Amino acid sequence: MQQPIFVRKLLPALICALGTVAGVAEAAPTISRLTPPSNTLSADAVTLARFLPGQRFDLQATVKPDAGTTITAVEFKVDGVSVGNINAAGIFGNKSLVPATSLTSSVPNAVSAYLRGYANSAPGVHTLAVTATQSDGQVVSREGNFEVVGIVANNGRTAKNVIIMLGDGMGAAHRTAARIMAKGYAQGKAQGRLAMDTFPYTGLVMTASLDSIVTDSAPGMANYVTGNKAQNNQEGVYPDDTTDAFDNPRVEYLSEYLHRKKGTTLGIVTTADVFDATPAANAVHTSNRGNGTGIVDQFLDDRKLTGLTVLMGGGRKWFLPNASNSTSPQAVNGSQRKTSTDYVLPDDLVAGWGAAKGKLDSNRDLIADFQAAGYAYAPDKTALDAAGVPDKLLGLFTFSNMNVALDKINARRGVSTVVNDYGFPDQPMLDEMTDKALKVLNKNNANGFVLMVEGASIDKQAHLMDSDRWILETIEFDRAIQKARDFATANPDTIVIVTADHECAGASIIGAYTGSGAAKSNVATYEAAKFPKYTINADGYPENTDVAGKMLIGYGANADRYETWKTFPQPAQDSQQPFYKDAPLNTYPANAAARTGDGFLISGQVSGEQAVHTATDIPLSAYGRGASLFTGVFDNTDVFFKLGQIAIGGAK
Ligand SMILES: [Zn+2]
Repeated sequence: MQQPIFVRKLLPALICALGTVAGVAEAAPTISRLTPPSNTLSADAVTLARFLPGQRFDLQATVKPDAGTTITAVEFKVDGVSVGNINAAGIFGNKSLVPATSLTSSVPNAVSAYLRGYANSAPGVHTLAVTATQSDGQVVSREGNFEVVGIVANNGRTAKNVIIMLGDGMGAAHRTAARIMAKGYAQGKAQGRLAMDTFPYTGLVMTASLDSIVTDSAPGMANYVTGNKAQNNQEGVYPDDTTDAFDNPRVEYLSEYLHRKKGTTLGIVTTADVFDATPAANAVHTSNRGNGTGIVDQFLDDRKLTGLTVLMGGGRKWFLPNASNSTSPQAVNGSQRKTSTDYVLPDDLVAGWGAAKGKLDSNRDLIADFQAAGYAYAPDKTALDAAGVPDKLLGLFTFSNMNVALDKINARRGVSTVVNDYGFPDQPMLDEMTDKALKVLNKNNANGFVLMVEGASIDKQAHLMDSDRWILETIEFDRAIQKARDFATANPDTIVIVTADHECAGASIIGAYTGSGAAKSNVATYEAAKFPKYTINADGYPENTDVAGKMLIGYGANADRYETWKTFPQPAQDSQQPFYKDAPLNTYPANAAARTGDGFLISGQVSGEQAVHTATDIPLSAYGRGASLFTGVFDNTDVFFKLGQIAIGGAK
């Protein structure tokens, strides 16, 4: 047997640098990625990857061989002990050595090695090493680390139920604006508190993703419920070097971990399309948040991993069969199922996680499959009310994102036809959905549940710089928070957190309206702004948002917009709706810059049609068992370990 040349380097960056210098005689294979990601910049750098004891995750390495050679073996070691040796190309149980497809055009024979479903129960920092052998006998290694975060046993004081109230895009300004509108101020004092204001503990959350200071909603949610940083547009996975969006190295979700450890069930409630990043990033593993067909399939097909019991929101377009597998022209029933957004999992992933393999099936009737699996189905509020308290529940109230609170409430008051224009006149409010979800989850609740409730269009309407619509979204979300708070009061073994995934739009409360026009001179600032006063109806929402002296919002992360300072009768178009280009939705303004009317143009700082997320820290408030852990300034991944401590070890 040929003696291998050992090319071990502690600093992989050095290997990469050497590899790119022309004329360096001694070529070597390189390991360009080791997963989970480590921080190799310095010896005392923050440990990037952290896990709860026994939490499952995949090990992965990408190896680039020298020209004319191949990689013949890859071995993973933890603390110096082999945990997986893959010595041929192919798939072997939960291990594989497969082409790194996104690299192969530039690096022939590059491979990606996977060890699926690894777990480690010993608290502390562990070394992770990978060694790759090339067909000419050369060997290369790379080292990283990960940490298992210990759980302190606090006898009998665990939280059985975990409720995460996620106001998408909800920064401090969104909360303040909702309080000013819903509760009023007089002589400097708020005349009431939002439900979220009454939570006894509040902290500030740093929201960055793996690859940016500014996150999108996929890592924004996933980081809370995996304890690890995901890359933008990715949920429940680490990045890798294959083009398959469903084969990425996985990290176990809170829902999956607690289901496996304690038998918890899972509820997901959103005002968005249920395929959207925030709901999906509690149960679905993919590197492409846009792959709606596969995302909704995985909700059902991997319910045994997550305990999925309640799924409610919009998004029927992904559940309806599309026999033609074509969405252009649009399937007549509104279906947008396509095989190009579906998945078939590799066998090592199936073996390592016990996941369903999946199938490319654009013609699947997913609602029927949910029903066959025991879920009651509610297509509208009337059916939701009539469903009683079933064992399991699927509610899909629109084709895609649900209509926003302002338009739903105005429809209930008989003063708007927006929901009719969308074709869904009978949609529930988020607090009604939350109330039902809590009843269903609490019905067979021997082992507790994880419930995530998303106020989705706080973000979506902030992107569109439609101020009154996102303020009412925040009020609607707060009414759902009150339901969660009431549940936790009646069931003290419950932790409720209210937070956001990121701030959206750089929203600021800049003053109040004066005069009658749209120009800047109508913005009253400082003492001229006084205290805007809204009349709140019995339904909990303002009688009229265009009151004299109304509160005005500015944006620090804005695209171009025309501003009238008035409530827009129509929301801007939502390109997620399958029929948004057809009448009557095609008569709605395309975006904030298309609302020319009597407004004036405010030039944006960012290109495109929408305001963007910002990197600003966001507030998190906590109520119930273990709430006192949520103070100070902490990372979004820290939330996972606090919840794990409370749910598994308990809180004093
Ligand atoms: Zn957003």
